[in-house]
Amino acid sequence: MKNYEHILLAVDFFEHCEAVTNRARDLATTYQANFSIIHVVDSVPIIDAGYGADIPFNMDLTTELMAEAKKRLGKLAQKLDVTEDNLWLEMGSPKTEIVRVAKENKVDLIVLGSHGRHGLALILGSTANGVLHHADCDVLAVRLRDD
Ligand code: AMP
Repeated sequence: MKNYEHILLAVDFFEHCEAVTNRARDLATTYQANFSIIHVVDSVPIIDAGYGADIPFNMDLTTELMAEAKKRLGKLAQKLDVTEDNLWLEMGSPKTEIVRVAKENKVDLIVLGSHGRHGLALILGSTANGVLHHADCDVLAVRLRDD
């Protein structure tokens, strides 16, 4: 069986992301793979980001979202023992950035959730779907249930 060497976890910081995180971490441990994490701040700022509720409306949203995302990513990295070199905080389209970072860093497995903020009903056109169609490497979509 193929041994994965570099696993990239795509995290959106919604409540379900712990299941995706645990799966990615377990796989990285099993394969003794290099383990990276990516979060992408949408270039069109949205109020319903996983951490959006903490942000007052009258601020420069992009700057504030980046700062908040950096904090979240830092905390997660500390928890998972991931070093700065393996952290990717990007801005733009989540699917485009996840695919780009994976290609540029010889990632051979991307782990993400089967849905995030868009929900199951809108799975077509979602980040998971976009990454699945455009990535050069394997993609694991961890099945997330709403119940
Ligand atoms: P969605 O397309 O929003 O349904 O999200 C599907 C999965 O893609 C999520 O469970 C995350 O693993 C990943 N994902 C979505 N948005 C982002 C993002 N902004 N940054 C990193 N990963 C994301």
